Amino acid sequence: MKIVLITGASSGIGQATASRLAREGHHVVIGARREDRLTEVADKIRADGGSVDTCRLDVTDRADVAAFVDGAVERHGRVDVIVNNAGVMPLSRLDSLLVDEWDRMIDVNVRGLLHGIAAALPHFQRAGAGHFVTVASIGAHGVVPTASVYCATKYAAWAITEGLRQEADPSIRVTTISPGVVESELAGTITEAGAKEMMRTYRAAAIPADAVAGAISYALAQSSDVDVNEIVVRPARQR
Ligand code: NDP
Repeated sequence: MKIVLITGASSGIGQATASRLAREGHHVVIGARREDRLTEVADKIRADGGSVDTCRLDVTDRADVAAFVDGAVERHGRVDVIVNNAGVMPLSRLDSLLVDEWDRMIDVNVRGLLHGIAAALPHFQRAGAGHFVTVASIGAHGVVPTASVYCATKYAAWAITEGLRQEADPSIRVTTISPGVVESELAGTITEAGAKEMMRTYRAAAIPADAVAGAISYALAQSSDVDVNEIVVRPARQR
């Protein structure tokens, strides 16, 4: 049984990961901003016999993320895994100049990840064990129009996670999960009409979020001397 922290677990991939890992017998600590949704997710997990704590969390706030991790260590004596999953994707063309949305993607997708690493790394180092899982994207491997800033944040997430893997003690495992198009609420953050329309067609091939949860579960289940560096999971229909 591992103590697994998951950011952005109020919907989509984070929610599916929490549900799957709890079903597999892990204790999950789920964080996000929408507390009502966290409570719903937790109620479902408990009804299925799983074990879960909830924590209101804004990953852009460094103190929030520290409290998320430190609180779990206080309650359970340790944290085994942190899944840095929280993300937003308000796609738009650069000439739309939606600068506030660019800033938000950088804050959540990059600074949020860094806050997760900063909060968990000292605990993992002290314990001589731990596992970082970053939910990046196929957007960490290629750029398409309207996705330049989003892809930039995911390239950054990929680079930060790869650097962490190279620097970390071998007792600490580091995994990047790069999903293709997956059913979730992610496209709900798009405000630009053109990008929204494009996404409607693009997202028709989406696979269930549990497919990504399965990849995360696989990485966690390997023995401590095996580090799954990256898994790319995309719909068979997405080329
Ligand atoms: P959702 O929109 O369903 O989930 C995003 C989660 O992030 C929500 O739980 C949301 O919770 C949380 N979140 C957003 N902002 C913050 C914040 N400031 N602090 C804390 N939590 C926050 O989308 P997905 O499940 O798809 O997204 C999860 C991850 O997967 C993201 O990193 C995304 O980039 C990545 N991804 C998704 C793909 C897809 O096709 N769905 C493809 C590739 C990657 P709340 O609003 O309650 O805070």
